[in-house]
Amino acid sequence: MIRLRRIALPQETATRLGEYTEKIAEQTTEKARKTKAKDLWGARRSVRPALLAALTEMAPGHARCMYCGDSQGTDIDHFDPKSRTPLRTFDWLNHLLACSFCNSNQKRSLFPLDGDGAPLLVDPTPRDPLDHLRLVLPLGEYKARTPQGQACIDVFGLNSRPVLVKGRVDAYATSRHSLELWRIATDKGQHDKAREIVQVSWNRPLVDVLVTMFHQSEHAAAEALFAGEDDVLALLRDPELREGFLNRA
Ligand SMILES: [Zn+2]
Repeated sequence: MIRLRRIALPQETATRLGEYTEKIAEQTTEKARKTKAKDLWGARRSVRPALLAALTEMAPGHARCMYCGDSQGTDIDHFDPKSRTPLRTFDWLNHLLACSFCNSNQKRSLFPLDGDGAPLLVDPTPRDPLDHLRLVLPLGEYKARTPQGQACIDVFGLNSRPVLVKGRVDAYATSRHSLELWRIATDKGQHDKAREIVQVSWNRPLVDVLVTMFHQSEHAAAEALFAGEDDVLALLRDPELREGFLNRA
């Protein structure tokens, strides 16, 4: 999971969402609000294309899932489930793009809370998941830094799905190669090729790996985190390479 920037919706769509929310709020009991939310969401055709378009623009790479970062995001997920908080069914700030596996097999209607009733799962749009999770790059596995990080690992199966773990190990190798190729292309003056390497690198699935590599290279314990991979750490700390990868247009 990586930090994502939420964009603004077209005004017409925002207005429609407000109208839907009013219809739910008009209901006099919580049970009626839940029923109304479910019915309206089932018939949301007028807002679905605009919501999907905005979420796709926000998502990593080519519309990757905002939770696992691997599969195509196909579903509009309610971060806070509509069965729990029907009034947030049409709240844009409560919508994320999820793959069907994360949505239907992993998260379902799970929404663990801490002892104070605050959500444990991390919404990657207002918060940085890397404050709660640490990816062990050579293993492809996440370690929890906080109870919120642990909840994400458990609910989304971040370490229990072998395709994710093996995929991250491969992504680490591919990303290392991309840094080396970028350096070679840049040294040869092949700037179009270098730009293409950057673009392709950020568009690949499991881009949490590349984000983590740059993030950990700035860590106080970076030498330990990249033990035996001094060349990779040197590339990640190369100011020219950082400019090319991190300040792209
Ligand atoms: Zn997913």
